[in-house]
Amino acid sequence: MKREIDLKEISDGKLYGANDMVKADCHDCVGCSDCCKGMGSSIILDPMDLWRITYHKKISFEALLEKYIELNVVDGMVLPNLKLSEKEEACAFLNEEGRCSIHPYRPGICRLFPLGRIYEEEGFRYFLQIHECKKKDKSKIKVKKWLQIDHIAAYEKYIVSWHNFLKGCEQALEDIPEEQKKVLVLYVLKTFYQTPFISEDFYAEYYARLKAVRQTLGME
Ligand code: SF4
Ligand code: SF4
Repeated sequence: MKREIDLKEISDGKLYGANDMVKADCHDCVGCSDCCKGMGSSIILDPMDLWRITYHKKISFEALLEKYIELNVVDGMVLPNLKLSEKEEACAFLNEEGRCSIHPYRPGICRLFPLGRIYEEEGFRYFLQIHECKKKDKSKIKVKKWLQIDHIAAYEKYIVSWHNFLKGCEQALEDIPEEQKKVLVLYVLKTFYQTPFISEDFYAEYYARLKAVRQTLGME
């Protein structure tokens, strides 16, 4: 999702790489679940997020739609995001103890917080959001340790590829007739989210699907 941001206002003014130390460690969020509530539709799931949840929770995309996720239009594309309960506006994965019930396979945006990503010409850097997490006495931690994602270089490469693909779709949507827009949007949703990933090697299957979709859409 594109956001117009002034880094000077929302961050400590620095940009970080995966191996940099950043003051983001809020000590396992003990006693706090603030960022799991009231976040609207902002926690958008990428295909890997969705795959990890369906794989570990043994749940289908359709079953997730009944309670945990919803679909919204983001920059012209239909993408899933975490759904909030109507009463408390809390993520449906937040349990009664105020802890994340899918912590080991929580989505990438949840892992990042209170960090954010800013995309550049060749990739992206991380920044620290200074007004979002009120926890005091945060400690320094290496960015990649905070994310708790294996094979960080492969993950970052995947994040950039997905970002660039969505950007390409957005541009394509500007040039095609209305009736074809719906076809493109539903094709992408079906290919990357609704059709289960069957390989344990997510990246291999993702890149194979990406290649096929890019060829079909003439993005090669
Ligand atoms: S607001 Fe900060 S301390 Fe609270 S749950 Fe989120 S990251 Fe953890
Ligand atoms: S998935 Fe977990 S960490 Fe993310 S918003 Fe929901 S409860 Fe919080």
